[in-house]
Amino acid sequence: MKITKILDSGKLSLSFEVFPPKTDTVFESVKTATERIASLAPAYVSVTYGAGGGTSEYTLDIAKNIKDRYKVPTVAHMTCVSSTKETVRAMAEKLRACGIENVLALRGDIPADKSLVKGDYLHADDLIRELRSVDAEFCIGAACYPEVHPESENSVTDIKYLKQKVDAGVDFLTTQMFFDNPLFYSFLYRIREKGILVPVIPGIMPITNAKQIERAKQLSGSYMPHRFEQLVDKFGNDPLAMKQAGIAYATDPIIDLYANGIKHIHVYSMNNPEVAEKIMSNLSDIIGK
Ligand SMILES: Cc1cc2nc3c(=O)[nH]c(=O)nc-3n(C[C@H](O)[C@H](O)[C@H](O)COP(=O)(O)OP(=O)(O)OC[C@H]3O[C@@H](n4cnc5c(N)ncnc54)[C@H](O)[C@@H]3O)c2cc1C
Repeated sequence: MKITKILDSGKLSLSFEVFPPKTDTVFESVKTATERIASLAPAYVSVTYGAGGGTSEYTLDIAKNIKDRYKVPTVAHMTCVSSTKETVRAMAEKLRACGIENVLALRGDIPADKSLVKGDYLHADDLIRELRSVDAEFCIGAACYPEVHPESENSVTDIKYLKQKVDAGVDFLTTQMFFDNPLFYSFLYRIREKGILVPVIPGIMPITNAKQIERAKQLSGSYMPHRFEQLVDKFGNDPLAMKQAGIAYATDPIIDLYANGIKHIHVYSMNNPEVAEKIMSNLSDIIGK
């Protein structure tokens, strides 16, 4: 099922993000974790993609397994920073053969060793045009950044390029993680003013251990509210307490987003079924309505 159809249903819903294994040896354990997440019957599951493309088969395997065994729609991520036209077309063909209708089209992070970048595409909009030309029926998503992409000069140029990307053929956007809802509301307001009218799915990352915080800051440069830093100061050294507090903290903005008219939320569940289960359980009387 296409993500746009899910979003059109008007019901409050939730999706989860998982990542594929990097090697064969951990394939089974990752598969089991993603199956547990799929068994919670989220609206969809999205499966990330290694920027270098080396694990692309695993992205397909995990996405296909979830779709076929659990009847949960999937989104396969695809990056283009190191891809050639041939590899993109071959991947698009495989997606079609597997019956995967949804693609999140990304540039990918530029590797520290820039010599590895030898693809035919500079930005995500190039990939989006390519996918559209291969199959007009793909439901194509793209990334957006409420706190501005780290490489952008400012939010004005970032939104200008976002508009260009959406105009290339995007059906929906998913945001980078953020930890302060007003940043999202303000972003939504600014992009709507610039004529970006496709659905925007907020991405929420439950932080359940102290190590994740530095990683999240590094990846997204996200602003961490003082009350969250206080929570980490208090519970960061106690793994069980930090997990419980982190899940509770992530549930709060989800409820606020629903209360403010957002119908669908994407949770960066990072192959952690326990986190996904607890969040689903916290929202059991809210979602599906
Ligand atoms: C929801 C989500 C899912 C993600 N999933 C993955 C994943 O599975 N695998 C992975 O490796 N990474 C993933 N990422 C990370 C992503 O690859 C990086 O953030 C990357 O640095 C940018 O990708 P993009 O598609 O947003 O790039 P782009 O849209 O190309 O933007 C990158 C930068 O270039 C600018 N720009 C955009 N278009 C142009 C243009 N035409 N000309 C000049 N400048 C331009 C933008 O303003 C921005 O500063 C994900 C990010 C998000 C938010």
